[in-house]
Amino acid sequence: MAERLRHLVLVLGDQLDLDAAAFDGFDPAQDRVWMAEVAEESTHVWSSQPRTALFLAAMRHFAQALQAAGRPLDYHRLDDPATRPSLATQLRADLAALRAAGSGPQALVLTRPGDWRVLQALRAAAADAGLPLQLREDRHFFTTPQDFDAHARGRGAAGLRLEFFYRAQRQRFGVLMDDRGDDRRDDAGDRAADDVAGGGQAARAPLGGRWNFDAENRAAFGPDGPGFDLPQPPRFAPDATTRAVLALVRARFGQHPGRLDHFAWPLTRAQALQALDAFVRERLPLFGPYQDAIWPGEPWLYHAQLSAALNLKLLRPQEVVAAAEAAVRGGRVPLASGEGFIRQVLGWREYVRGLYWTRMPGYATLNALDARQPLPAWYWTGETDAACLRDALGQTLAHGYAHHIQRLMVTGLYALLLGVAPAQVHAWYLAVYVDAVEWVELPNTLGMGQYADGGLMASKPYIASGQYIHRQSPLCRGCRYRPDERSGPRACPFTTLYWDFLLRHAARFARHPRLAPQLRHLDRLDAAERTRIRARADAWRAAD
Ligand code: FAD
Ligand code: SF4
Repeated sequence: MAERLRHLVLVLGDQLDLDAAAFDGFDPAQDRVWMAEVAEESTHVWSSQPRTALFLAAMRHFAQALQAAGRPLDYHRLDDPATRPSLATQLRADLAALRAAGSGPQALVLTRPGDWRVLQALRAAAADAGLPLQLREDRHFFTTPQDFDAHARGRGAAGLRLEFFYRAQRQRFGVLMDDRGDDRRDDAGDRAADDVAGGGQAARAPLGGRWNFDAENRAAFGPDGPGFDLPQPPRFAPDATTRAVLALVRARFGQHPGRLDHFAWPLTRAQALQALDAFVRERLPLFGPYQDAIWPGEPWLYHAQLSAALNLKLLRPQEVVAAAEAAVRGGRVPLASGEGFIRQVLGWREYVRGLYWTRMPGYATLNALDARQPLPAWYWTGETDAACLRDALGQTLAHGYAHHIQRLMVTGLYALLLGVAPAQVHAWYLAVYVDAVEWVELPNTLGMGQYADGGLMASKPYIASGQYIHRQSPLCRGCRYRPDERSGPRACPFTTLYWDFLLRHAARFARHPRLAPQLRHLDRLDAAERTRIRARADAWRAAD
């Protein structure tokens, strides 16, 4: 009779770190690792080809790292006909087989997954097998869901805004603070781990005397755009392992959205560290001023392009923040840029995760604006004559990437103004981006993008007319529509739908302190213009 395993360590596609919490105390003599490529993760939403390829290729590279580290591994490949369709069915089958062979594990070990659905499925599989599931907290965040819960307790929606959380994070972890001593250690990971455990020293004043440099961070490019010397992020040419995955994805998911011809994402820890280093040296200095700008044909601009590596756990946010802070303190990066970037990682990224784990499963069903329109079919193809949408969608499908303002103020804004059902918008964002994992995608989409949580995450809906896109990009110049026209044949759909949104929701927001001023502009519209706007908005809805 084979000897019983002690732990079967379950590793999911977004948990690719040899030092993950699930490996604490790992003993190759008693424990095994379990990984599975399953179809359900590419089909529960219509996962784009770049997104599926990224996860599978990174998993296969991680399997090689596990083997090199001498950790026994059970790995199920998608192209093995014996592989089951879902994580839970594969795990159930494997546990039954191990039990039958007399080597069933005494316990399952798992780092907290990124998706509530997956956690429930694996818990159910463990319970069915009569096995304890040890859930370990994920150290790839500064904070735990419990920390967020403690922060949120007793606060109303206004007190739960990012700004309060972010300042508390800066204080707690001593990031970009003025009054720290010289006893800082170099190892950011150790420092952050100590701080999470409560060992951090409280600091008081923000570096530079301000918490926020947003006012400096809103530039648009001049008429010539970012210029020829715009640094391009490193590209990682697919190796044999990745090429095999690309062929598999083409064969198996060729009907799914997106293309693979530009696929060059970092897939290993070494590549992710190289990408981080290049970003901090070459693009972070100008990240701040241009973080809201859009330029056609330039998907990356000064953005980090690090979200996928962070979310796969190839990088730790502690080391990313430490690298940015070191560049600021070393005088290589202006404080406004460094702070703008750190706010995203130490602030927003942690905040949305806390919101997700403390509000699920109910959060996914919210629809505060009662939006019911179907998502336009062309979101999946990019075939639209609105230049800004065509650009953002085209680049999304080509790379699995769009930067934040394109997601929020182009594709997200259009869905919000049109009144698309939030669940459909969510399914799209979760499907198309390589960095999409539900803990981060869902709050960003439902809360920030669609105001479906009724103001928990965003103090007001992010609404704007086409004039906003006109200010941030040159796209309107090449578009058949006019951003300053709200009715008539050349009216920009964003502008028409913006006014239509105000008309539709005037009663709801009449007392809203920040939207009421926008609503007052409705007084300028006579009855005939209101009718024209509504008719054109209805035509857009019917056409979509
Ligand atoms: P940069 O703009 O250079 O920012 C640096 C880093 O900060 C990012 O890598 C990311 O880790 C973090 N970050 C920035 N903004 C946010 C944010 N709002 N929430 C959480 N982290 C943030 N991000 C994802 O990682 N996965 C998603 O599925 C996702 N879906 C989104 C959906 C919508 C509707 C919106 C508005 C935003 C979404 N974001 C998502 C947040 C953000 O757009 C991406 O993190 C960012 O565009 C990734 O590109 P980058 O690495 O070049 O980021
Ligand atoms: Fe987009 Fe409207 Fe500008 Fe055209 S005119 S690019 S649709 S904002």
